[in-house]
This record gives sequence, structure tokens and C-alpha cells, in this order.
Amino acid sequence: MRGKKMKHKIYLQFCLIAALAILVTTTIVTALFYQRFKAQVFSDVRTYAYVLTSVDTYDEATLIQEVHQLDNLRVTIIDKEGKVLLDTNADIGGMENHSNREEIKAAFETGEGQAVRQSKTVAKSTFYYAVRMNDGNVLRVATETGSVLSIVQGMLPIVAVMVIILFVICTFLGRLLTDSLLRPIEQMAKNMDYVNEISVYQEMEPFIDTIRRQHEDILKNASMRQDFTANVSHELKTPLAAISGYSELIENGMVSEKDIARFGGEIHKSADRLLTLINDTIRLSELDATTQDVVLETVDLYQAAENCMDTLEISAQKHDVTLKLEGVPCKIRTEKGMADEVIYNLCDNAIRYNNKGGSVTISVMPVDNQIVLSVKDTGIGISKEHQERIFERFYRVDKSRSKSTGGTGLGLAIVKHIVARNGARMELTSEVGKGTEIKIYFDKAA
Ligand code: ADP
Repeated sequence: MRGKKMKHKIYLQFCLIAALAILVTTTIVTALFYQRFKAQVFSDVRTYAYVLTSVDTYDEATLIQEVHQLDNLRVTIIDKEGKVLLDTNADIGGMENHSNREEIKAAFETGEGQAVRQSKTVAKSTFYYAVRMNDGNVLRVATETGSVLSIVQGMLPIVAVMVIILFVICTFLGRLLTDSLLRPIEQMAKNMDYVNEISVYQEMEPFIDTIRRQHEDILKNASMRQDFTANVSHELKTPLAAISGYSELIENGMVSEKDIARFGGEIHKSADRLLTLINDTIRLSELDATTQDVVLETVDLYQAAENCMDTLEISAQKHDVTLKLEGVPCKIRTEKGMADEVIYNLCDNAIRYNNKGGSVTISVMPVDNQIVLSVKDTGIGISKEHQERIFERFYRVDKSRSKSTGGTGLGLAIVKHIVARNGARMELTSEVGKGTEIKIYFDKAA
């Protein structure tokens, strides 16, 4: 609806401008033309006036008579007092004093004078040219021509036809122009799915590109969310089914006394698994949801790594892995708790995907203007094809190993999210059978 209105407006404005242009041009051309015409007429009467004054006074009257008949000129002779001595068109007896006429006054004063006056009929103008003769009288030649109005009237049909033709052309061009200007927008509004197939002109391209990208992002996001929901549900089902199954057996008295503790243990493990899964899911949606109002605090990364080592010491012993810490105290600015979360997730992985007797080295070092956190293990490594995918939600190289060590497949997705939020950069180097190193580059705190 709105789009239609705008299109109509552009179109109307185009036509209006065209009409205005035609009008202005015609007026100017007419004015110029009239100006030239006037100059020509004056030049003609002036020539007559001079020719007549140069003639011998004796033959004056007859000659004037002839000129009048020949060219439809009116000739008048006026004396110093303004009295009309001779007039080819009127009876001089009834004529009023002429000394006030503009051209005559000028002729007495300067020798010559000119004027143009409206005739009695509006459609005509009279052009006067007066010259002072040697005897002191003034001779005036006058001719009647069409006035501006009559010239305009004469031109009107041609102008009208021209205006109509131009207007039709402009209308047609206007429609073409507005159509081609607005077509991509209209097409896009109709169906975003075919945005790639719309042909656009150069100026539209950045705009279309942005919309296209946003559209794709929206679609990708929607499908990611859908996948995520399906995955979460699926992941929740397994431990829940186990809990339900074991407890049902106990409820029905089908478990012998000595097995009860083992079944209880299984239920406990599944419940823990559910909790970690739900915690990780909640954490991810928190990270997804809050993008503004981030409150930063200054954190010593080295200190955070030390704390993390304490927390993971027992787990490391269980996996027969030694933890080492290198580096110096380095301050960065991040959101509350996020440094601990990142180090914990990376170290936890480095322990869980390690070999017996292996080691994990955490290092915190300033490099150039940045602080580099590195978590390096001597574990199983990740092959090239998996390296770029392990940061995806629920992506696991070896599902059973991940599950048996309490993994959810969300740890690295959380790390990636945090790194992006804090404007940091992440680097992964890994070789199957040798180990993995993940480095994160933070900006130094001021
Ligand atoms: P999980 O909970 O399964 O550990 P993560 O998101 O933390 O989930 O990691 C995803 C996958 O990446 C893991 O399942 C594992 O296959 C692989 N991975 C992560 N860290 C390491 C590592 N240090 N060494 C080898 N493989 C790793």
C-alpha cells in the first residue's frame, strides 16, 4: 500500500517537472521571439522615417501618401507646439495635441524617439518612430502589428501540440523510470526467498546485499535454534530413560539387594549428567540472550589459571595426568567469571582427551600488546576434518568417550561464544596422537 503511494508520488513529480520545464521553455522562447520581433519592427519604421525625412519638402505629401498605400504605414507630421500638420490616416482637424506623446517628446529633445502602444483592439500593438526634420517639425511613422497576446495566441496550437507530445513522452519515460527504480524493491518485498535472482542496478547492490545477508542470517539462526532444541531434547532423553528404567526395576522389586547400590549409582550418574546438560544449555542461552549491558572487570589471568588448577587437580589425578602452569601475572578485562569458565572448559578437555601419564600445560604470557592464554596437552589430538567443527554445539569426535567422561558437547561452544563476546581471538593447533594446543589472545587491560 505504502509502496504504491511512493511510486505514484515519484511518477507524479516526474510529470510535474516535465510540465513545468515545458511551460518555462515555451514562455522564455516566446519572450525572446517577441523581443526580436519588436527590434525588427522598430528597425523597419526607423528606416522609413529616415528615408521620408531626407526627401525634399515639396513632394512630401504625395510621397507620404504613396508610402502609406504601399506598406500600410501611417505617417504623421507634428509641429513644435504639438499640432498635427499632416496625418495619412485621420482628419487632422479632429486630432488632439501630440506634444505629450513619448516618442514625439523624445524626438524634439534628442532628434529621434520610439514607442510601442496598445491599439484600440487588444490583439494589436502600434509601433511608433519619430524623427526631427531640418525644418524643426517632427515626422512620425507608425505601423500596426499583432501584440504579444496575438503572437502567443498564434503560437498556441503548436505549443499545445508540442506540450501534449512532450507530456506523453515524459509520462511514458516517467513510468519506465519509476518502474525500473522500484522493481527490485517490489520484487524483494514480494518474496525474500528469491532475493538472489533479482536483477538490480549498481546503487541498489549494497542494499540488496545487506538484506540478503540478514535474511540468510535469520534463516541460519532459525535452523540452528531448531537443531539445538532437537539436540537438547535428544540428549536429555537418554539419561532420563536410564533413570526411569532403573528406578522402575527397583520399584517393582526386581533388583536384588546387592545390586541396589549399583543401580542407585547409575541413577545418580544419569541425574548428574542431566544437571550438567541443563547447566550448559542454560549457560548458552544466557550468552545468546544478553548482548548489551556487559559489565567488564579486571582479572588476573594467571591467578584464574591457578584457581582452575586447584579445582581440576582431583580430576587430573583420576586420569593420571599432570597439570603445569607457566607464565606471569597478566591483567585482562572480561565479564565476570568468564575467564575462569574458559580456562576450566579448556583444561577439562585437555585432561579428558589425554593419555595416561600425559600432561597439560597452561601458560599465561604477554606477547606484544596482548595476553596469550595457552592450554596445551599431550593427548589424542584432533584430525583436520574435525578441527573446524568441534566448536559447534553438540559436535563430538568420539561420542562415547565424551559421554563416559561427563562431556556434553557444549563446552567449546561456550568458550567460542565467550571469546567472541570479549573481542578475543582463538587459535587451534592439533595433531592426532601428539596433542592439542588452544591459544586465546586477549587485549591487555589498560
Ligand atoms: P565435550 O563435552 O564433548 O568435551 P566440547 O565442546 O568441550 O565437548 O568439545 C567437543 C569435542 O572436541 C569433544 O567431544 C572432543 O571430541 C573434541 N576435543 C575438545 N578438546 C579436545 C582436546 N583437548 N583434545 C582432543 N579432542 C578434543
